[in-house]
Amino acid sequence: MTCGEVGKLLQRYLDGTLAGGRAARLSAHLEDCRRCGLEADTYELIKKALADSRGQVPSESLARLRAFGERIARGDEPVER
Ligand SMILES: [Zn+2]
Repeated sequence: MTCGEVGKLLQRYLDGTLAGGRAARLSAHLEDCRRCGLEADTYELIKKALADSRGQVPSESLARLRAFGERIARGDEPVER
């Protein structure tokens, strides 16, 4: 699975609506790929913050998430610098 595929499927994976085989491959990718693992953590943080009405989504996390989505939409592979 590529980082681009992970970016497209991550939301469904975290919502628990991704079918078993793909979920397993995505999970394996998150273990191997530090960058996608970080993106997954960011999604989780936002989900938790949204679920907790007292919580506030850190604007930094939202900006990072938006940038990630835009990169995926353009078809760029994430580049580690
Ligand atoms: Zn990746």
